[in-house]
Amino acid sequence: MNAGNKLRMAELLAVFLLAGCLTRMPANAKIKLKEIAHLDISENVNKNININKNTNNDTSTSKDINTNNLKDAYLIKSENNDLAIVSTKAEAQKALEAAKQYFINKYKLIKDKDYNIGFSEKIDIVKTKAEQNKIISSESAENVLQSKGNCNYKYKILNGENLWNICNREHIDIEKVLKMNPKAEKNTKPGDFVILYKYAYKLGLKWNEKNERDEKIAYSVESQKTNKLLQGKIKVQTEGQYGLRHIVEEITKVDGVDVNKQVTENKVVKNPVSEKQLLGTSLTMPTFALGMFSRPVLGKLSSKFGPRWGKFHYGVDLAADIGTNIRAVDGGIVICAGWVKGYGNFIEIDHENSYISGYGHCSKLFVKEGQRVYAGEKIGEVGNTGRSTGPHLHFEIRKNGTPINPWPFISKYY
Ligand SMILES: [Zn+2]
Repeated sequence: MNAGNKLRMAELLAVFLLAGCLTRMPANAKIKLKEIAHLDISENVNKNININKNTNNDTSTSKDINTNNLKDAYLIKSENNDLAIVSTKAEAQKALEAAKQYFINKYKLIKDKDYNIGFSEKIDIVKTKAEQNKIISSESAENVLQSKGNCNYKYKILNGENLWNICNREHIDIEKVLKMNPKAEKNTKPGDFVILYKYAYKLGLKWNEKNERDEKIAYSVESQKTNKLLQGKIKVQTEGQYGLRHIVEEITKVDGVDVNKQVTENKVVKNPVSEKQLLGTSLTMPTFALGMFSRPVLGKLSSKFGPRWGKFHYGVDLAADIGTNIRAVDGGIVICAGWVKGYGNFIEIDHENSYISGYGHCSKLFVKEGQRVYAGEKIGEVGNTGRSTGPHLHFEIRKNGTPINPWPFISKYY
């Protein structure tokens, strides 16, 4: 075969492949019917198949084709498919650019967010020679490039596979596949590549997308044993706090499907704070302060801390029936248990941690000065003694001697 014939053979093969691709186009492909009508596809395909069959015979091939009909043209091809033939390179570029924009709109890509936008396969514009009726307008080429059709792709045969079970699984025509892979029938084995086809967009779009998200970081719990708490009790000293991690991922997508994901940034924005807790070990009720106040009485807030009737009310009043239990809000030592003017029967407990709690208007007292009490221990009963207008507990707290509002300490119980 001389060089001229070799060139012609390459051209004929290109024409044949293009015709094959066009025939596999489905009826619903976005092609203007007028434009493709004159291509007379079926006739050309048959003719080209004949030519292809005769490729072993140089003389017959050259006789069958009228080389005068061939014109300079440009073939747009992907890695495994010839897509369209147009007259000029500029038309090819314009059609590809239009197709790219079509897919950008289709997949709703956003400038800045989506980047590295391109076709998923290598696309070439190849100078060729083609019959006039194979050359389509730039507009038709745009439509072809935006359409779906049976597209060839390379497939590596896996262990346990053969062409028959692959075709069966993919619902594709084995006869067609055998024609596309003339040597395949006898020689294919796992690891070999074959050309298959699938119904898909002729051009795939590939792009990268940034995905930013925050992830919680768990905190650890540090426990410390203490005999200040009853066994089984847990006291949280410092609440644990979740940390935060900022993650940036780069996702590569083809036609909207993730094909690769890579973390490009993984930054700790906030460190977690360990939870610190005390684990009780004591088998008896400790009579020293635990550092938190429990509920002194089951009652209803009837008077707040603050100015009242032109004076200052240095505690809160908790209304309850006479005889309702009054309990020490924390462990400590009783420093007052008796009658105090205004307060009536009054109890004071020094918690030995700068806090002193006071309980006024009691009907009964169950503790004596100097007695140690544990948190929650019954110390008296609600009464109406002293300057009181009804049964209630007057409850107060002093910190380093200064009366402070007890409500924030005990309100969670009410
Ligand atoms: Zn009061």
